[in-house]
Amino acid sequence: MIGRDVLKAFVLVGLTAFLCAGSILQDLGPKLSPQAWITTNNSTAVRWSDYHSPTAGYYVHVAEEADVATTVKYCNNHNIGFLAQSGGRGWSTTFNTTKDYVIIDLRNLNFVVINGETNLAHVGGGANFGEIVDAAYENGLQMVNGGCNCVGQGALLGGGLSRFSNRYGMALDQILSANLVTAEGQMITVSNSSHPDLFWALKGAGANFGIVTSSLQKAYPVIDDGMVWYGVLSFPRSKLEGYIDALNNLNLTEDMVIHWGFNYDTPNSTGTPIITSQVFFWRGDAEAGKKAFKPLYDLDPFSDTTQVMPTTDLNSYVDGFCEVGGRKPGWHVGLKSLDYNTFSSVWDRWVDFVNGSQLYHTEILVETYYTEGIRKAATTKDAAYAQRDVNHFAMTIPYWEDPSMDKEVQAYGSGIRDMFKNTSGFNPDKMYINFAYGDEPLEEIYGDSLPRLRTLKKQWDPNGKFNQWFPIV
Ligand SMILES: Cc1cc2nc3c(=O)[nH]c(=O)nc-3n(C[C@H](O)[C@H](O)[C@H](O)COP(=O)(O)OP(=O)(O)OC[C@H]3O[C@@H](n4cnc5c(N)ncnc54)[C@H](O)[C@@H]3O)c2cc1C
Repeated sequence: MIGRDVLKAFVLVGLTAFLCAGSILQDLGPKLSPQAWITTNNSTAVRWSDYHSPTAGYYVHVAEEADVATTVKYCNNHNIGFLAQSGGRGWSTTFNTTKDYVIIDLRNLNFVVINGETNLAHVGGGANFGEIVDAAYENGLQMVNGGCNCVGQGALLGGGLSRFSNRYGMALDQILSANLVTAEGQMITVSNSSHPDLFWALKGAGANFGIVTSSLQKAYPVIDDGMVWYGVLSFPRSKLEGYIDALNNLNLTEDMVIHWGFNYDTPNSTGTPIITSQVFFWRGDAEAGKKAFKPLYDLDPFSDTTQVMPTTDLNSYVDGFCEVGGRKPGWHVGLKSLDYNTFSSVWDRWVDFVNGSQLYHTEILVETYYTEGIRKAATTKDAAYAQRDVNHFAMTIPYWEDPSMDKEVQAYGSGIRDMFKNTSGFNPDKMYINFAYGDEPLEEIYGDSLPRLRTLKKQWDPNGKFNQWFPIV
């Protein structure tokens, strides 16, 4: 039986929450633009992974850039914590919110306005990659964006690895200026000429410094009428050593990207574990593509789905990866080169884990880029992003539902990460913020940029309003 005092406490807590909700709706609601709305329903701001995802009591769905500033000021005045959400794809475990938090949902700021004369795009802070791809191609242009349609602008603030990165740099290298709401709720514009220090910090550690309500980004004329050669080459385990050797010696160019890894060949663990290699060649020319990837063809893949297709179709091939729900964080390490013995051990552990636990969606994924191109685009003088010398972005992404399995999966994930770390070629290790798990030392996330970021954090966010995403302390 619940005692009278406990019951009274429940009633008080409930009443306080009710009054608070009431005042947010009544006080903040009328201050927002007519299309903005507030709810307590968390299904209105979905997230990709349920594991360590942020909780909140209220969801403010902003409709205009000024709504963000209004909400931040309101939260500050009422001592309420807040967190911005764009695509909701962030899987880090660094979120540390409570039920009293407000999530500022930016998704309706999803405009992409292209100026075909200047090749510049004004992109809302809630636009996702799919919307950007479509808007750019409608104007005969292409933009640097990630490989999945559902990912939001949070990706750019940490880096933004794209199949175009080899040619033009990271997605954050495309930002010429950004409209930002500061910790105090001020709306400012940052660029190389306006608050250049903050602009630098934004490009690599953005979530720590403000809320980007929109940005001006570069766009480029399409290549080969927007056609690309793309597909998946599959190999058995017996080819692993040759495969690693071929990749280490492959003459990558700015036209070539490889996303590869270990998967099961059927959507369940009764299938065969195989090596799959998604190959991209930025020319609408199959012959040239096959020539560029000859060392992989020499290994005689048992399956080859490559074809010439419109670039706009590319992301839709991996739409399945965008599905929301379930528990699916990633454990990631940046690698200088590939070590066969490491990948052989990773294979054994992965097969053992998947067979043992039936977590058949769990995969090993490596993204291999021509990083010469990424380095040419900018340096850490231009942007805080500190992983320009990582050649291979390796990770495992387990996928499970049952929270009682958390410990088992954590042991597997961090174990795979340790294996990769042993031969990463970096000391300290280099972890790409957008793929990291959340428990990595800040030195691994922010690299040499960390001391300057710490100084700027004290200046722009002294009270830690933006401390949810690998907080700089
Ligand atoms: C299916 C999938 C595909 C992916 N593909 C790629 C890829 O191709 N390339 C790549 O580099 N990464 C990729 N990632 C990783 C991705 O970059 C990160 O998950 C990134 O954090 C997602 O940003 P978001 O806006 O979708 O997520 P959110 O969870 O909304 O945001 C992540 C963090 O950034 C903050 N944030 C978001 N928007 C803003 C803003 N406008 N202003 C200030 N802070 C903001 C949030 O507060 C949060 O702390 C992928 C992830 C998934 C799940």
